[in-house]
Amino acid sequence: MAVAASLDEKIEPIYREVIRRNPGEVEFHQAVREVLESIGPVLVKHPEFAEHRIIERICEPERQIIFRVPWEDDEGNVQINRGFRVEFNSALGPYKGGLRFHPSVYLGIVKFLGFEQIFKNALTGMPIGGAKGGADFDPKGRSDGETMRFCQSFMTELYRHLGEYTDVPAGDIGVGTREIGFLFGQYKRITNRYESAVLTGKGLDWGGARVRNEATGYGLVYFVGEMLAASGTSFDGRTGVVSGSGNVALHAIEKMHALGGRVVACSDSDGYVLDEAGLDVELLKEIKTVERGRVSDYADLRPRARFAPAGNIWHVPCEVALPCATQNELTGNDAARLVANGCIAVGEGANMPTTPEGVRVFLDAGVAFGPGKAANAGGVATSALEMQQNASRDSWTFEHTELRLAEIMRDIHHRCYETAAEYGKPGNYVAGANISGFIKVAAAMVALGLI
Ligand code: NDP
Repeated sequence: MAVAASLDEKIEPIYREVIRRNPGEVEFHQAVREVLESIGPVLVKHPEFAEHRIIERICEPERQIIFRVPWEDDEGNVQINRGFRVEFNSALGPYKGGLRFHPSVYLGIVKFLGFEQIFKNALTGMPIGGAKGGADFDPKGRSDGETMRFCQSFMTELYRHLGEYTDVPAGDIGVGTREIGFLFGQYKRITNRYESAVLTGKGLDWGGARVRNEATGYGLVYFVGEMLAASGTSFDGRTGVVSGSGNVALHAIEKMHALGGRVVACSDSDGYVLDEAGLDVELLKEIKTVERGRVSDYADLRPRARFAPAGNIWHVPCEVALPCATQNELTGNDAARLVANGCIAVGEGANMPTTPEGVRVFLDAGVAFGPGKAANAGGVATSALEMQQNASRDSWTFEHTELRLAEIMRDIHHRCYETAAEYGKPGNYVAGANISGFIKVAAAMVALGLI
């Protein structure tokens, strides 16, 4: 089994203090450790970052908001959820990051996502800080009316912390265009302002931008395409496996097919569906986004496909693996299985889907491994493009926006690749992304003084 990387001796006590100050928040600890493992050599080149105690400051959110979300269900019962917004770092711009509605949400999840978001947003080259939020609300099985009442109650508290120049949320797990609509409607009603750039992921008819819906999945495939090109190959004729079947997964499948690959499996929390001839993405979209159904419905409608209830999707042989569901869904054993089955590239569409052991297995095996903070940054980058269009009352075409997205993903890849080589870790996109993102934020924090 792969051995965990050690921390630099100056950084180890900082990490221990993070654990002490944030007890029980295991996902947050994991995300912090993953970044700190890469940062040792940066302190050698940039001693000013240690002098200004940048690491200690970057690990402490600027502001954390936790609030009660009371709402009424369709039977007239009062329900109570907990809402969160962690405004982590605004050195580069207004806080920016999605909202997640899922029963597993607690402060540790929101902090891990917010921490990752700081470096991801820095890597895009856009002027946006890092934040994340959400609630332990489970949208599954809830009517439109219940979801609307929940979103209205959530925004009734959150609105006072938001603003075009302050904090601009977007979607994440469980928060799509429908939820963004209810949230934006309530913001508009309370503030009496049509402040389009206060939320991104809006519908096209009311301030949204083309490609935002597709951006994370498409951007992921562009990034993996760049990694493949750097190793002298492409998607052409390659088999892919994509976990999840939500916004990121569906658009990743669509783009991988467009670039000549064939995705044979995808999943949800009930199991995975296998279609050796290649998944029919239009059918999947119909099932998941129109019917709000399950991937098992796909196998019912396509006799050639097979549904594996509670099956492990990473046991399906593939050359390109794209984890696009949730954190820690791909373990060390899964990674070893993928490598044994001939996997050559992995791109994280989800945030932190690969466990630290899994990451080490991939790096040791020489698999091209694109970490989420680089590979899935296309979503937030296109959110920043949505903000640009809102600010200038403009609306770009699909083709123009997609070209911008492809260019941004190429730049992110280039930044990670070059930085990894500069720091003596050629081909290590984890080190490249962490170092490059960290340096950008750290330099801005030094420039802005002790705030
Ligand atoms: P969606 O809600 O659209 O889809 C999530 C998918 O993942 C569903 O298929 C869901 O299955 C599955 N899933 C979620 N939680 C679990 C779980 N605990 N176990 C198994 N499967 C699970 O979310 P998105 O596609 O928007 O987000 C997916 C990932 O991508 C997340 O990690 C998110 O943070 C990340 N991401 C999203 C961005 C975006 O623009 N949307 C941007 C950058 C990153 P089920 O229906 O059964 O729950």
